[in-house]
Amino acid sequence: MKRILIIATGGTIASTADGRGLSPTLTGRELAEQVPLIDGLCDLDFVQPMNIDSTNMLPGDWLEMARIVREGYDAYDGFVILHGTDTMAYTAAALSYLVQGSAKPIVLTGSQQPMANPFTDAKLNLYQSLLYAVDDDSSDVSVVFGGKAIAGTRAHKQRTMSANAFTSVNFPALAVLRGDRIVRAMGVPEGLPAAPRFYDTVDRRVCVLKLTPGLSPAIFETLKPAYDAVILETFGIGGIPEREGASYKTAIFDWIDSGRTVVITTQVPEEGLDLGVYEVGHAYADHPGILRGGDMTTEALVAKTMWALGQTRDADELARLFYGPVNHDRVD
Ligand code: ASP
Repeated sequence: MKRILIIATGGTIASTADGRGLSPTLTGRELAEQVPLIDGLCDLDFVQPMNIDSTNMLPGDWLEMARIVREGYDAYDGFVILHGTDTMAYTAAALSYLVQGSAKPIVLTGSQQPMANPFTDAKLNLYQSLLYAVDDDSSDVSVVFGGKAIAGTRAHKQRTMSANAFTSVNFPALAVLRGDRIVRAMGVPEGLPAAPRFYDTVDRRVCVLKLTPGLSPAIFETLKPAYDAVILETFGIGGIPEREGASYKTAIFDWIDSGRTVVITTQVPEEGLDLGVYEVGHAYADHPGILRGGDMTTEALVAKTMWALGQTRDADELARLFYGPVNHDRVD
């Protein structure tokens, strides 16, 4: 029987109410005991590095999860991470960069309703995550939730209440889970290395800036002391305003000249960026030092920029790391 390590970190799935709102109290083992169907599916071990609302998850916690996977990699056939849904897409993306090319599945799941809720989605999600983790055709980092398996770099929390909380952005779901069946849309990747590439550093000084009409470009000056990189969510397919007296061009090129990084993406949820289409984006299209987000999710852009800047400060090497596809994160 396969051996799976459950890494329990908290979230709604582990939460109980104490009159002041839901907070995580149940351990991974206690959660698994609530799902008798998983008996006989695999041998389980448990580790509980934290028990927190994922609102409070930090990049250091991603490193801790990656470390646990690294240390348990030879001993286990797969990993299931129980996690709050609110920042699960960030963690799934971060783990995709911190543990690259894993032949063994690393599955994140959680639930919209606590385990004790009579209408909980926790049982099915936990069961199907384990089912997916023990399947020979599963690999790499994914989110299994609401009957879908989504590549770890493509998940986005789309709904705050419903069981189908996550969508797969700009990329098909890897599989649909129907009861105890896995229906795969994607072929099984070939030639995954015997050991994945593990990384243990990130640059936390990365933020997201969403353009809104009238937002002053002076914001870049304000961000300078605290941040090395800005993920800029532009309008539409890549529009950045340029009006007299408020030049984003000056602010952005000055930011880059100061040795910092700009990643340009769109605030439109689907279909990605193309800076070459409109004049209002053109000036940025081929400017060295500007990284283009393509069709990546903002969550994956945050995680990839943190990971890439954690490895290098050299602009060419940074671009090489940034544009290299990882776990289906971009289609150019
Ligand atoms: N606030 C919770 C969390 O992210 C929400 C959830 O798990 O659904 O931990």
